[in-house]
Amino acid sequence: MTESYVIIGDGIAGSSAAETLREESPDADITVVTDEGEALYNRILIKEFAKGKLPEAPISIHEENWYEERDIDLELNTYVTDVDVDAHEVHTHEGETLAYDKLLVATGGTPAQLPVENSDAEGVHHFWTFQDARGIQEHASEADTGVVIGAGLLGIDLAAICGAQDVDAKYLMRGDSWWRYALSQEGAEIIHEGLRNKGVEPVFQSGAAEFVTDDDGRVEATIDSNGERYESDFVGAAIGLNFNVEFMQGTGLETDDGVVVDEYMQTNLEDVYAAGDITQFYDTILGEQAQNGSWGSAKEQGQTAAKNMAADDEVESFRWVSSYSITHFEFPFLSFGHPTIGDDSVERKYSDTEWRRVVFKDGKVIGGVLIGDLAPQSTLKQLIREERDVSGQKELLLEPEIDVDMLDAPAQEQ
Ligand SMILES: Cc1cc2nc3c(=O)[nH]c(=O)nc-3n(C[C@H](O)[C@H](O)[C@H](O)COP(=O)(O)OP(=O)(O)OC[C@H]3O[C@@H](n4cnc5c(N)ncnc54)[C@H](O)[C@@H]3O)c2cc1C
Repeated sequence: MTESYVIIGDGIAGSSAAETLREESPDADITVVTDEGEALYNRILIKEFAKGKLPEAPISIHEENWYEERDIDLELNTYVTDVDVDAHEVHTHEGETLAYDKLLVATGGTPAQLPVENSDAEGVHHFWTFQDARGIQEHASEADTGVVIGAGLLGIDLAAICGAQDVDAKYLMRGDSWWRYALSQEGAEIIHEGLRNKGVEPVFQSGAAEFVTDDDGRVEATIDSNGERYESDFVGAAIGLNFNVEFMQGTGLETDDGVVVDEYMQTNLEDVYAAGDITQFYDTILGEQAQNGSWGSAKEQGQTAAKNMAADDEVESFRWVSSYSITHFEFPFLSFGHPTIGDDSVERKYSDTEWRRVVFKDGKVIGGVLIGDLAPQSTLKQLIREERDVSGQKELLLEPEIDVDMLDAPAQEQ
C-alpha cells in the first residue's frame, strides 16, 4: 500500500523533510501545506532584503516546479485549521480534508504582539515572513525616526535595518544590555558600540508602554516605560514567538512552550512527528528537553523526522550543536549550543571588538558566544559533541588559541 505523508509548514524544517521523504520513499504520496503564498525561501536573508541590500530573487530557495519535479503536492495559501488524529485527517480553511498515514508538524512560530496600546497600529512591524520584510523595507526606506523593541536576535536585525535605511532609531531594552541571557554587560557593550556606529542608540531600563498614533491611525511616537516620548514613524517589535499549535488543540498532543518530541522527533501521538523551531526536543547531549531557534537545527530536525517516518522505526536520532551568526557589524558574532542556560561560565575581552564567553553545565561545555574571532568555534563545538568534562580546566578555553591537547582526554565509553 502507498504510504501518504502530510507536512504542515514549508519552512526549512518542512521542506527538507519533504525532500528526505521523497528520497526514502520514492512511491509515497507527499503533501506540503503552507499558509504562506510562496514556496520555501531563505528566512535568514530576508533581513538583507529589508535593509535594501539584496534583491528578491536570491532569497527564494525553491520555485514551485521544484515540488512538481519531485511529485510533491505543494498547497500554498492554505491554513490548517484542525487535525483529527483518530481519523488521521488534516482539515484546511477551505474545507479540504487531507488523509495521512504519518503527519509532520513543522509550523514554527509567529511573533508575539506587544501587550500595549496601539501595538497593532500601522507602522508597527513584526518580523517573520518575506511578506513582513517587504513591508519593513518599504516603510523603513521612507521613515525618518524609529524605535526597536526586543533585545534579542530578531530585535537586533530590526535595529540593523534601521541603521542601513538611515532611520534615526532608538533601541529600547528592558535591562541594562542587549541579550542579557547570553552576554555579560562587557560583551554586550561591543554590540552597543556597533549599534551606535550604525546610528542606532541603545536605551536601557526602558521598553514600550504605549504607541501614539496620528489621525489616520499611523504610529508617530513611542512612550516608554519611564514616560519618555520617542518620535517613531517606524517601529519594529521582536519580543518572542508564539508557537503555531492551535490547530492541534483537543488532540492530546503534549506541548510545553512548543511541541514535545523525543530525539526521533516523535510526539506523544502515534504517527505524529514535529520538527524545527516548534519543537521542545530531547537533546541527547544535554540529557534534557531543549529548544533551538535556528535554521541549521530546523533543517536537521526535518531530515531526522523524515527518516524515522519513512522507516516506520527509530532509525536516526537528532544530535546537533546549533549556531547562529550575526553579520551586521564590522566584527563577526556567533552564538553556539545553548548559551542562555548552564550553571557556570568563563569569559574574556581581548580587544574593543573581541570577546568570548563559554558556558558550562556539570563541568561540560554546552554553549557560548564569540565576538570578533570565530576561530575557536569548531573546537568548542567538538567539546560539546564529545561531552568532554573540562572541570578544572575551564580557563584554558579562553586562551586565544585553544590547545585541545592540554585538556583531559575524553572519557572512554564503558
Ligand atoms: C528575520 C529572521 C532572521 C533570522 N536569522 C537567522 C540566522 O541568522 N541564523 C539562524 O540560524 N536562524 C535565523 N532565523 C531563524 C530561522 O529562520 C528559523 O529558526 C527557521 O526558519 C525555522 O524553520 P521552521 O521550518 O521550523 O519554521 P518556519 O520557517 O517558521 O516555517 C513554518 C511555516 O509553517 C507555516 N504555518 C504555520 N502555521 C500553519 C498552519 N496552521 N497551516 C499552514 N501553515 C502554517 C508558517 O507560515 C511558516 O511558513 C531568523 C529568523 C527570522 C525571522
